[in-house]
Amino acid sequence: LGKQVAKEGFTGIEFASGIPGTLGGGVVMNAGAYDGELKDYIKWVEVLDENLEVVRLTNSEMEFSYRKSLVEKKGYIAIRACFSLEREDQELIDFKMRDFADRRRKKQPLTLPSAGSTFKRPEGFFAGKLIEDAGLKGYRIGGASVSELHCGFVVNDLDGTANDIYRLIKHIEKRVFENSGVKLQLEVKLIGDFLERD
Ligand SMILES: Cc1cc2nc3c(=O)[nH]c(=O)nc-3n(C[C@H](O)[C@H](O)[C@H](O)COP(=O)(O)OP(=O)(O)OC[C@H]3O[C@@H](n4cnc5c(N)ncnc54)[C@H](O)[C@@H]3O)c2cc1C
Repeated sequence: LGKQVAKEGFTGIEFASGIPGTLGGGVVMNAGAYDGELKDYIKWVEVLDENLEVVRLTNSEMEFSYRKSLVEKKGYIAIRACFSLEREDQELIDFKMRDFADRRRKKQPLTLPSAGSTFKRPEGFFAGKLIEDAGLKGYRIGGASVSELHCGFVVNDLDGTANDIYRLIKHIEKRVFENSGVKLQLEVKLIGDFLERD
């Protein structure tokens, strides 16, 4: 099966196995991993618009881009989505899902609480590498730290507060910019008010 996958490449939405969340969140965020994105398999999405009317948006009307969509921009509510998928051998699908899960377990701090990748992948760079190059591997503020396993993840490993996490994020942004000139952008969303104390 490994040889077959190597020859045919990874097609289908197996890449999404291991991305926690709901279909709505995945569609709205255009969730993706390992070079796959949900947008490549979505035919249409039904939303409740600002007038609470049900509207069907085609793939191009959804204006998908990296972790973004029209639904997110306009504040609509996604209620249904139609995917276009090809029938495939079940053993091959299982194989691909196991392969993606193995890669995640090896490279991501899945045993610690996190919100996933903290920052978007900057064009031409990897956020984790930029953070590691800025000397921040394992860097800690209060109960939150930069994962030793994957610097792109802020983990809450010692009962950190939202404020610890926020201050750590701000520190990472500053140090990475000083070190590489790259402005990291958040992939996670902040909710509520945060205090910046140092
Ligand atoms: C360990 C870990 C690994 C992760 N790995 C990945 C990864 O590889 N790739 C990736 O893309 N993400 C990853 N994530 C992030 C997250 O799992 C995805 O973004 C996921 O798609 C979010 O789905 P959710 O249902 O939890 O949405 P939420 O996080 O609850 O919501 C995300 C946004 O969508 C909005 N929203 C949710 N549902 C709807 C709806 N029905 N209609 C309108 N708006 C809605 C919310 O208001 C919010 O703005 C990871 C997270 C963790 C913790």
